[in-house]
Amino acid sequence: MTTRTALMWFRRDLRDHDNAALARALAECARVHCVFVFDDDILAATPRAAHLRVEFLWHAVSALQQTLQQRSGGLHILRGRARDEIPALARRLGISDVYINHDYDPSSQVRDQAVRQALEHIGVALHGSKDIAIFEKAEVLTQAGGTFSVFTPYKNAWLKRLTPLDHAVRDSRARSERLVAADSACPKFGSLGFGAPQLGALAVRTGSEGAAGLLDDFIARMDDYNFARDYPALKGVSYLSAHNRFGTCSIRALVTAAVQRGSEGARTWLSELVWRDFYFMILWHHPHVARGAFKPEYDRVAWHNDHVLYDAWCEGRTGYPIVDAAMRQLNQTGYMHNRLRMIVASFLTKDLLIDWRWGERYFAERLIDHDLAANNGGWQWAASTGCDAQPYFRIFNPVTQGERFDPHGKFVRRYVPELVRVPDKMVHAPWKLSAAEQSHLAMVIGKDYPAPVVEHSARRVLAQKLFEEARSEQAR
Ligand code: FAD
Repeated sequence: MTTRTALMWFRRDLRDHDNAALARALAECARVHCVFVFDDDILAATPRAAHLRVEFLWHAVSALQQTLQQRSGGLHILRGRARDEIPALARRLGISDVYINHDYDPSSQVRDQAVRQALEHIGVALHGSKDIAIFEKAEVLTQAGGTFSVFTPYKNAWLKRLTPLDHAVRDSRARSERLVAADSACPKFGSLGFGAPQLGALAVRTGSEGAAGLLDDFIARMDDYNFARDYPALKGVSYLSAHNRFGTCSIRALVTAAVQRGSEGARTWLSELVWRDFYFMILWHHPHVARGAFKPEYDRVAWHNDHVLYDAWCEGRTGYPIVDAAMRQLNQTGYMHNRLRMIVASFLTKDLLIDWRWGERYFAERLIDHDLAANNGGWQWAASTGCDAQPYFRIFNPVTQGERFDPHGKFVRRYVPELVRVPDKMVHAPWKLSAAEQSHLAMVIGKDYPAPVVEHSARRVLAQKLFEEARSEQAR
């Protein structure tokens, strides 16, 4: 019988069920303390605009504390630098082993390495488990043993490797008697320095319970996913991304749900979950993508980086309704539909000719579900600088994208009320209305709603030229 005392350090795995590191700690040690650190290093680097994300995290931590307490355990909730707090707590509690789940962000790896060294000094072992991905690091390789940089063959190899064991639910709800109570209160959200709580007003479903509700909801709609997922006005997607970000649901449970459903819609959804692993893998093997283009020749693109155009994009006043509605959705709710993420990212880079890293940074500030690997992958895909990206000469037209994916302007009108009276067929290009029609609708372009900040057809030619110049410099 083991006499070891464990510390389970939660980070982006904020649930007490199907949690690989927690299951391992409970299996290997007689007593298991649990901890979460509101890390000052991270909070200090988090812009105030990210308050919805911090609030989502705060809800997840406080719900986790309650669940652990219901199991007669507890959660130490600390404030400070994790690299100091974890070794100090381990020493105070007489811990022999600290358990974590792997995190693939370069900055998390630096932090974990610092913690590992500090723990080693006091004779404590740090054990890492795979939990947030189905397959990580070098688990899915080409036949020649190399890493993939193209998605479809990666997905095929990923699916081939998938066995029921890979997505079996792990038992971390057993052995509750080994959990140790903690005398620690969750700090008030206001004390974290991100203003007053706002998620309640947005009806965002938080914590593991919120995730379970969203999954149940989605399972009933999963078969329609391959059709409905592209229409932002429809409830076609799962809205689980923030839960995937913070681990309030288990990725294995999602994969299991998709595999069990087995329909075409479920298979398409499973592909999206594979993209998530793909981008973790890319970030792990190619950490330079966090700073620059996956394909270094595209670091030479001479972006125009006009601040006035950038501000118009951020604030949703470019004069292109689908872009403006999307940006306002992001600013108001901390979420943006995937189709819209692709449209606004293409627009920023190929129409406004602004460096994709500016957009990546703006999303990082605003998205509740912000995840370095997925965000970077999505931006590099849209900007054509990524590993398996949209070719640079295939440029979304914001008007036809709007007409195709929001045919009646329902989504646009939800976030751009200025256009509420504009007829469906003009709602994605309202500047084409005659002056008389505009004044009849009380929607005068340039007064009630902006004129387009750039002309799409001219900018697409310029964008192609910028990319071709970058490529020919490479060839020289
Ligand atoms: P669903 O369609 O229900 O998909 C299910 C899950 O699969 C998602 O919750 C997410 O975890 C994962 N997923 C779906 N698409 C992708 C993808 N392309 N790459 C990686 N994972 C995916 N996703 C993030 O989670 N965080 C980000 O910061 C992020 N930034 C993005 C930036 C850009 C420019 C683009 C084009 C995409 C980005 N995505 C990001 C991917 C995708 O847009 C979101 O995951 C999705 O819109 C979330 O909504 P959902 O949970 O309803 O997705």
